[in-house]
Amino acid sequence: MPAEVLQEAASEMLDWHGSGMSVMEMSHRGKEFMSIRDQAEADLRELLAIPEHFKVLFMQGGGLAENAIVPLNLSRGAAADFVVTGSWSKKSAAEAQKYCRVHEAASNTSDNHTCLPDPGHWQLNSDAQYVHICGNETINGVEFHELPDLKSLGSDAPLVVDFSSHVASRPVDWSRVGLAFGGAQKNLGPAGLTLVVVREDLLGRSMSVCPSAFDYATVATHQSMYNTPPTYAIYVAGLTFQWLKRQGGVAEMERRNVAKAALLYGFIDGSDFYVNKVAKDCRSRMNVPFFLRDETRNDAFLTGAKARGLLQLKGHKSVGGMRASIYNAMPMEGVQALVDYMRDFEHSQA
Ligand code: PMP
Repeated sequence: MPAEVLQEAASEMLDWHGSGMSVMEMSHRGKEFMSIRDQAEADLRELLAIPEHFKVLFMQGGGLAENAIVPLNLSRGAAADFVVTGSWSKKSAAEAQKYCRVHEAASNTSDNHTCLPDPGHWQLNSDAQYVHICGNETINGVEFHELPDLKSLGSDAPLVVDFSSHVASRPVDWSRVGLAFGGAQKNLGPAGLTLVVVREDLLGRSMSVCPSAFDYATVATHQSMYNTPPTYAIYVAGLTFQWLKRQGGVAEMERRNVAKAALLYGFIDGSDFYVNKVAKDCRSRMNVPFFLRDETRNDAFLTGAKARGLLQLKGHKSVGGMRASIYNAMPMEGVQALVDYMRDFEHSQA
């Protein structure tokens, strides 16, 4: 989270804009909260250049719930294609299997999730109601730097993108997207809010067993107020959207994220002490998994990092090693501090 956003939220915690209420105490249908919601949507639309014919939905349940909600809304109980590129897309495919036939159109499993399968070789099925990809594999550190153009691959199916962990880190080419979803807790705000951006023509095809609160058409008709939305999370996300605008928007974020990632990968690649195993053309700009070549030094590395205020560097348990998550709110100075520490640690071990 950007410190500025946390400070703003703290200063308004007890009394929002002289209303005499905390945002947490507002009726979600009152004019105060409605103005917060409307502003948040307008700012998000502007930031991500979301076209008019897409609906913005503020939901709950997180990325994992969307793994069920998407097939309930889009699969018609028929079939969907999945491109498996790491832990998260694998989970998405497994969950969708409860609702429709799942076809693995491509996978990088045999490469241990360290590269991206070439879209030219994806096996897309004509009965697939949508094609799912995970834009950024948070655990494996693999990112689509460009969204696939399904039309050029001969498919009319809408592309579904899980953009949980790189939303707002760069512009989105909406002409290639049918639906994008993501939990807010990486780049947008606190956990509890799930963002869904869906093309209008995809509404109204949900399966009859789809819970009403998770039916995109119902949620859209009620401007995300069918059930009580996660009001405080929407408010803080709204503050983050304004912060993003002040920084220069997502194009500027992309520029910074490219520079941050280049610094860290450049250092790792230049070292014999550390290694990143992901193919260079698909390395994540958000999550950088790396390993010490001598893994017996892992604990010492983490202890020394903590002493310098460099936290949460332990890799995901399924992958091991280290992982630096350098989301939008991480400044260049933070990445530089990590690189400085990594260099010092290496020298201390010589
Ligand atoms: N997809 C991706 C790409 C993620 O990074 C995560 C969470 N780290 C999820 C899905 C799951 O999200 P949630 O915990 O909000 O259900």
